[in-house]
Amino acid sequence: MTSTERAIAAAEARSAHNYHPLPVVVASAEGAWMTDVEGKRYLDMLAGYSALNFGHGNRRLIDAAKAQLERVTLTSRAFHHDRFAAFCTELAELCGMEMVLPMNTGAEAVETAVKTARKWGYRVKGVPDGRAKIIVADNNFHGRTTTIVSFSTDPEARADFGPYTPGFEIVPYGDLAAMEAALDAAGDDAVAVLLEPIQGEAGVLVPPAGYLAGVRELTRARNVLFIADEIQSGLGRTGRTFACEHEGVVPDVYVLGKALGGGVVPVSAVVSSHEVLGVYRPGEHGSTFGGNPLACAVALEVIAILRSGEYQQRATELGEHLHGELGLLVAGPGQPGGVRAVRGRGLWAGVDIDPALGTGRQISEKLMDRGVLVKDTHGSTIRIAPPLVISKEDLDWGLDQLRAVLAG
Ligand code: PLP
Repeated sequence: MTSTERAIAAAEARSAHNYHPLPVVVASAEGAWMTDVEGKRYLDMLAGYSALNFGHGNRRLIDAAKAQLERVTLTSRAFHHDRFAAFCTELAELCGMEMVLPMNTGAEAVETAVKTARKWGYRVKGVPDGRAKIIVADNNFHGRTTTIVSFSTDPEARADFGPYTPGFEIVPYGDLAAMEAALDAAGDDAVAVLLEPIQGEAGVLVPPAGYLAGVRELTRARNVLFIADEIQSGLGRTGRTFACEHEGVVPDVYVLGKALGGGVVPVSAVVSSHEVLGVYRPGEHGSTFGGNPLACAVALEVIAILRSGEYQQRATELGEHLHGELGLLVAGPGQPGGVRAVRGRGLWAGVDIDPALGTGRQISEKLMDRGVLVKDTHGSTIRIAPPLVISKEDLDWGLDQLRAVLAG
């Protein structure tokens, strides 16, 4: 048995099988590269589902974490600590908002946004108790809690987890008329629309031009909160700090996670106005680790990195290159291709492989054999989202491996 096989067998024996990882056991990583327990190197084209936007072992983030580790790591919110105000201030400013409610994971932040919208509905909008409605899109992915899977349309994510939380209406993603109809049907009970500006887990689905701006108009006109789940799309990935910016849209609430902790620590947050986040009183919501000193120190460095705009620029430039190259693989008249369709924005692509060439999983395994790590999503789709620190040469090498796999 190789050390890889031993590690995988032990993990299979002792961990719940809620994931089906590719058979690689990573031992170390730097920049856009990971090294496994056998010493083989792989180009990371997933970046921890975009949590690693600034690369593995980013020096600035590691130094910020190390310095904070030596000072204080956790106080709980029972006491103040000296990184908290700076974190909330800087993050609110980055978002052009007023207040921050820090949590840890993405799902927790989405839960927090749902609770916040309901409380805002009852306390500020005047919705009768227990009637609040939140409109969401089909094929959404917002996390795994009981309430969040209650409004998932993915049978795998939902089955056997009922009874489900009520109060959600599901409309087709990208369909503005359906959104308007759902808002009209909910009437004054509508408190929020919760959307991913680009649906990541669904296969990097970019909504039609004008959709987000249209939702912004509809929600503003009806005094309904527009909550943008930018957990995967935000913080540089699409070439902007927020994917909503591509349509000039400013939501009422940002939900952030993943890259906010730089792949070093879990950090998430709900960011909004005084009117919205001001609804909370002590004891009504919280988390032991939310806003801890270590998380704040790392996130402060993430925010400083984002302020420079350097990574947004890289995502734009390398993204143009990536989409240009992937576009050439799409089958068309006189072009055999191997790829059915490519979607995405910035350094983020969903690639629908011709099912005749294999499932997404099979393609991912073939890429792994060639030293490239990606992850499949539904059917024959793979996602490409390398750390934004990737060099153009490495990106081209990764694309060469994809071409080789498609060529069989
Ligand atoms: N929201 C979006 C858009 C996501 O992509 C994810 C994770 O993939 C989540 C929420 C959930 O985040 P977490 O896995 O940190 O709970």
